[in-house]
Amino acid sequence: HDVKPVTANPDFSHAALDEEQARRCRSISVVVPCYNEAANLDRLLPRLITALVALGLQWEILLIDDGSRDDTARELTRWSQRVPGVRALLLSRNFGKEAALSAGLDHTAGDVVVLMDADLQHEPELIAPMLLRWQAGIDVVYARRKDRSDEPLYKRAFTRLFYRLLNATSRRVHVPADAGDFRLMDHKVVMALRALPEHNRFLKGMYAWVGFRSEELPYMPAARTAGRSSYNLHNLISLSLNGMTSFTTWPLRASSVLGMVMAALGFLYGLYLIVSYRLFGSQVSGWTTIMVSLMLFCGVQLVSLGIVGEYLARVYEEVKRRPLYVVRDSLGQGLGSAVTST
Ligand code: UDP
Ligand code: MG
Repeated sequence: HDVKPVTANPDFSHAALDEEQARRCRSISVVVPCYNEAANLDRLLPRLITALVALGLQWEILLIDDGSRDDTARELTRWSQRVPGVRALLLSRNFGKEAALSAGLDHTAGDVVVLMDADLQHEPELIAPMLLRWQAGIDVVYARRKDRSDEPLYKRAFTRLFYRLLNATSRRVHVPADAGDFRLMDHKVVMALRALPEHNRFLKGMYAWVGFRSEELPYMPAARTAGRSSYNLHNLISLSLNGMTSFTTWPLRASSVLGMVMAALGFLYGLYLIVSYRLFGSQVSGWTTIMVSLMLFCGVQLVSLGIVGEYLARVYEEVKRRPLYVVRDSLGQGLGSAVTST
């Protein structure tokens, strides 16, 4: 593997593009978060490097070890020592994919930045068509999966419901469904994302929030090559609760509206009880009524309290102002300020 980063090739232009209009890209950074991906790296990196060399640009690959428990850190170190242009950032523990990606975005220097998974579900060959769209003036090109027929039914139903709820009220910021983290972004977009200070990183929402000219590129994710997906139902639920609380406030509004409706109903029923007492005197029945209304009101109260609690927890996370990730080691040389140690 004696591949070297190639310097900008002035002949890099594609037939479809008007030379005058086309943006010239000099360098490209690829960010790959890795959590227990040791078995995939030897398959991913040669393919990725070939794809990047074919572009004829200066390139760097920034591999983030998100506190893996297998040999990933050692593999990353080896690759970063062997191939110039491959950099490794080792985090001090597992911080989660969103934090690993943020670490990557903070350390890139390329004119365009690509985010992709390490498990070859995101094919490196798609970078070239993405770059073509960027040259035509699109700032963000994201891969959007064509269909989800490979996923279990419950996951599909859950995802659909989630995007419905997420996009329920906000008219300005629309988070596209089925668009993951596999995307190519202009440097401007990366700067905008870096400037967002929130601790609770719901990247899909943040991409949508920063805006810019975006376009989708339909693709079909391949099957994971080795290892297991880190996302189970529990993670998905917690990820979507985070997403909801960081990008919507309508649940709070909904709970106060629900409270008002219930209070109005309670008031009307109270009036009815008083009037019927006046007319017909006291009747000691109504156990059902008491139980039903008690349960209903208790339920509504607890749900509302829970919603408030979720938002409060997010506020607490934010005010602590902790860093998003901690870097244990940074190895290899990339495009910009090269950091080397050990
Ligand atoms: N990942 C990570 N930290 C984590 C979990 C996952 O950096 O805590 C990385 C993982 O190595 C992979 C990408 O995020 O490169 C996507 O993970 P995975 O394939 O498990 O998710 P899925 O494809 O099932 O959504
Ligand atoms: Mg995957």
